Amino acid sequence: MSIHHEFIQDIQPKLVEWRRQFHRNPELGFMEYETTYAIGKELEALGFTLYIGRDALKSTSRYGVPSSKEIQQHEANISSSMEEEWLNKMKGGHTGLVAVWNTGRTGDHLAFRFDIDALPIKEKADDQHLPYKKGFHSQNQGVMHACGHDGHTAIGLGLAHFIASHSSELNGKFTFLFQPAEEGGRGAKAMTDKGWLYEVDYFYSGHIGIQDLPVGTVAASTKGFLASSKWNVTFKGQSSHAGMKPEDGRNALLAAATAATQLYTIPRHSEGVSRINVGKLSAGNGRNIISDYGYLELETRGETKSINDYMQEQARRMIRSSADMHNVDATIDFVGETEPMICDDEMISIVKETCQSSSNIMHIINIANVSGSEDASFMMNAVQSHGGKATYMLFGTKLSDNHHSPAFDYEEEVLTVALDTYIHIVKGGHLFE
Ligand SMILES: [Zn+2]
Ligand SMILES: [Zn+2]
Repeated sequence: MSIHHEFIQDIQPKLVEWRRQFHRNPELGFMEYETTYAIGKELEALGFTLYIGRDALKSTSRYGVPSSKEIQQHEANISSSMEEEWLNKMKGGHTGLVAVWNTGRTGDHLAFRFDIDALPIKEKADDQHLPYKKGFHSQNQGVMHACGHDGHTAIGLGLAHFIASHSSELNGKFTFLFQPAEEGGRGAKAMTDKGWLYEVDYFYSGHIGIQDLPVGTVAASTKGFLASSKWNVTFKGQSSHAGMKPEDGRNALLAAATAATQLYTIPRHSEGVSRINVGKLSAGNGRNIISDYGYLELETRGETKSINDYMQEQARRMIRSSADMHNVDATIDFVGETEPMICDDEMISIVKETCQSSSNIMHIINIANVSGSEDASFMMNAVQSHGGKATYMLFGTKLSDNHHSPAFDYEEEVLTVALDTYIHIVKGGHLFE
């Protein structure tokens, strides 16, 4: 039994413990203060060089930052045990951190990205749902780790422990990006624009679940992640008495409703996949009032950047025309974005070759097809445009329900498989000789 096998066995209970700790205390994008603190304290103790919050992000490249009211409310609730210095670095929605380990020996520069945010979902509270049954369900009302980022964070900590404890056998440099606000494609660009990826030789990220694959199956790469853009649209009109002076009103409710239905009529593009969705519509003040307010949250997606640009251009026209039709104003806030991403073929062979000796990995798929969107795309494209290679993997597990649903859960054994994959990659290609 190799030394690293023992490492995996020893750290297994910690992986589960970390995952449950993060699951218990989920935080929304750009509000992952306690999550960042917990990660940071662990890495600090291991000897990593840390760049926290503001030092890890380009502030102005953040998308869809929560309102200052929401941020202040959350900051006020943060456990008093957090050191002032850490809180100051994160204040105003600057969460997440970058941790660097330099072996001091020449070698490749590897970067790993783990997303850490949760979702605005009320977790299911019944005994069918394991986190509830075992008592590690969300303690943060209305917020839930319903995508698996609690697990991603735990895997990242496990890998950091491996690198710190095996540093004398390794060469090169390792950069860990614990990224905030993946949901909605809001956080990766801010880390990318800070410049962490420009000198990276190999970039690895991945996701638990996504596809229905058994534990022990790993996809060495993925394809089909779509470029996307996320908008909040506000319609402003003029309210008026609906009985006495309807002609003085300018109806923003109708403009929003018109836009919502018309957006779905955008012709599809012959060159590839596209998507449009209005996920939220709100409007109106009351029965006898012409509504002066309408609001939509929507997203466009496209297989390529140009298809997504086409979708955006069409959507802009639909919104403008709907506003014109009802003589109201429309403003579009751009709140999130992902790019298309292409994994490098070379990475498939690296994952396959390095992982074939793992006793935890039963089956490796070359490429898994997906159709979501991922803002790791910004990081991958930054690495690749500077001559590095990148991949985005999937780690199989049965899911108790869909991603982003209140009963979402996965098999915790996937944490071991994913960690073992990363360890084999690090060990295989980058051992000191
Ligand atoms: Zn998600
Ligand atoms: Zn996710």
